Amino acid sequence: MNNIVVVGAGQAGSSLVAKLRSTGFDGTITLIGAEAVPPYQRPPLSKAYLLGDMAEERLYLRPAAFYADNNIDLRLDTRAVDVDATAKTVTLADGSTLPYDKLALTTGSHPRTLPAAIGGMLDGVFSVRDLKDADAMAPAFTAGKRVLIIGGGYIGLEAAAVASKRGLHVTLVEMGDRILQRVAAPQTSDYFRDLHTSHGVDIREGVGLERLTGSDHVTGAVLSDGTELAIDFAVVGVGIMPATALAESARVVVDNGIVTNDHAQTSDPSIYAAGDCATLSFKGQTIRLESVGNAIDQAEVAAQNMGGGDVTYTPKPWFWSDQYDCKLQIAGLNIGYTDVHVRLGDGGQSHWYYDGDTLLAVDAMNDPRNYMVGKRLIEARRSPTPAQITDPATDMKALLKS
Ligand code: FAD
Repeated sequence: MNNIVVVGAGQAGSSLVAKLRSTGFDGTITLIGAEAVPPYQRPPLSKAYLLGDMAEERLYLRPAAFYADNNIDLRLDTRAVDVDATAKTVTLADGSTLPYDKLALTTGSHPRTLPAAIGGMLDGVFSVRDLKDADAMAPAFTAGKRVLIIGGGYIGLEAAAVASKRGLHVTLVEMGDRILQRVAAPQTSDYFRDLHTSHGVDIREGVGLERLTGSDHVTGAVLSDGTELAIDFAVVGVGIMPATALAESARVVVDNGIVTNDHAQTSDPSIYAAGDCATLSFKGQTIRLESVGNAIDQAEVAAQNMGGGDVTYTPKPWFWSDQYDCKLQIAGLNIGYTDVHVRLGDGGQSHWYYDGDTLLAVDAMNDPRNYMVGKRLIEARRSPTPAQITDPATDMKALLKS
């Protein structure tokens, strides 16, 4: 039982192999990655890297030498195309096979794209998932150009912030009633709408994209309200789909993601999964957590269990987003919230999500102290009263002791 293969050399895959070695696993480790570059962090692709403020090498999660130094066989530019769970082999794109005793799937996700029928395949229509996408798109971010951003989630908003900072004319359409509708309270949507509007971004909510127009290269857009826009390029940020093809070939249970138990194990006891591709159970619900924090933590649990441990994964969700000079930090998950209480002052602003009397989550805008307080309260399952939250006189740190 000494041969571990990990497919997917991203945030989770890299964390998994590092944890295997740091916890003493001394068998064979092979890490298979479809991309040509060593495992890297994706968040800067829609932030500092896209803005041109960060070099590619700084994206790398670990120095390239780390893998060789730790006797990890990192195979880049290599795609796994099939898993035979009975024979316990992984087939690579060149037709060769790799045996495994235990396999981890850390295959991440794919961005949703627009159908070709509405112009999704035109030149100048970009998604942002990997380094190649960011590199392809970056030259278009030139002052004076007109960009249409489709989707008002975090990635769309971050791309809008970069475009605005670079001096582009930015229009963002969100077909839902408000930006961030899927993930945040109206108060947080309001905060970010105001922030973007103050930077000149034209945000149109409740308006979808009818189609993109142009012969080879996109030159225009028709919106669902009939508006026609002339544009130079478009950025699509309409969500992601878990990468489950390999899991399906292995015939493990897949349901909007690779289903994992609290040991990061799939329905096949020899196969584990972690990160964006995996579903997990959280407070009785089956969810996917599309975040760096989850990719690392779940992968580390998978590593320990693959190495013979018995570790349970309890997600402690956290997330962040950078837009202009605002750092948003989120602790907890707001699913099922009934009320939101706003705290002003302390240098920033924070939105506290409650289900009745129970604190679920906090969105903290330029407010790292209250983010930390909220995170620790949520992890300790403690809930201050809403009156304590909204009272500017409350010593927030003292809530951790009371
Ligand atoms: P990934 O990091 O996507 O890695 C999966 C890897 O598997 C990829 O390299 C892929 O090529 C490879 N792969 C897939 N199939 C195969 C195969 N068959 N064979 C070989 N290799 C394969 N999260 C935050 O918490 N905060 C943020 O601010 C934030 N910003 C983001 C901004 C952008 C632009 C993006 C794209 C994501 C952002 N995220 C953010 C999300 C975060 O980056 C992901 O949740 C995280 O990368 C998930 O890690 P993962 O290892 O599951 O997947």
